[in-house]
Amino acid sequence: MQLDDYSLARQKALAGEYPHQPLKGQIALVTGANSGIGEACARHAAAAGATVAINYVTMPEKADAIVSDIAGAGGLAASFRADVSDEMQVLSMYDEIRARFDTVDILVANAGLQRDAPLEAMTVMQWDTVMNVNLRGQFLCAREAAKEFQRRGPRTVSRALGKIICMSSVHQLIPWSGHVNYAASKGGVMLLMQSLAQELAGRTIRVNGIAPGAIATPINRPAWDTPAAEAKLLDLIPYNRVGVPDDIGRAAVWLSSDASDYVVGTTLFIDGGMTTFESFSTGG
Ligand code: NAD
Repeated sequence: MQLDDYSLARQKALAGEYPHQPLKGQIALVTGANSGIGEACARHAAAAGATVAINYVTMPEKADAIVSDIAGAGGLAASFRADVSDEMQVLSMYDEIRARFDTVDILVANAGLQRDAPLEAMTVMQWDTVMNVNLRGQFLCAREAAKEFQRRGPRTVSRALGKIICMSSVHQLIPWSGHVNYAASKGGVMLLMQSLAQELAGRTIRVNGIAPGAIATPINRPAWDTPAAEAKLLDLIPYNRVGVPDDIGRAAVWLSSDASDYVVGTTLFIDGGMTTFESFSTGG
């Protein structure tokens, strides 16, 4: 299969999915928004009426292309460089977003990476890099979002004071040999999300998670980019197709809109049934 590439024409077409503009008037920050799932979340949020802050750390030209497509489709976006694992850079990013768009209503804490190795070969740097981006990065971005929601107070654009979506993984649940740093980080994201939801719900800040299964993006290219690899991957997916970033972008719009206003502290698994553990269907 191929990477699902976006274009200006597709950005324009996406608007047709959101005739009621459920995020109109809101500002959404998406981290790691210039690739894969984050890009889809950013493009769908823009199509749903949000102004979008596109966070990136590498490939500025990709971030600029997304900003330009969103503008070409009649929306508003700007790109903001920050390494989400670096506290000072995250603080500066929020300052820059405030200067440009006044506030933030929605955070999609999506930035993440893998540094895979068998346990005996895994270096401390591989462990720390994954923990710092996947877990510390979500903590830092969520902390600043919660502070910003409370600083600016209620707005008429949404029932909640603010919404935070933590991008997790089916590996918050499924152990993953050879990827212990990644699975541990996503297990951490699950309890970070649940604890934040508990702590912030009384202030009408809604925190939820999305746990994607196998979505074809650059992060997992070897798992889907040859027919043999794709067939092996499909063995794990009862619904018998590999996911695409749009599957997650649509869900992120719903989870950050008032349509999900009573959804708090939940992880939405979007995995084609991977977590039904299909291999048990003929045994156990
Ligand atoms: P991707 O590699 O296409 O995108 C990851 C994004 O995160 C990129 O934009 C990258 O530049 C950014 N990023 C990495 N380190 C960063 C940092 N320090 N600061 C800011 N941004 C940084 O991968 P993806 O598949 O789109 O992954 C997005 C999220 O979805 C990740 O959290 C990943 O763990 C999660 N996820 C993906 C899948 C999948 O099958 N693709 C499955 C489960 C979970």
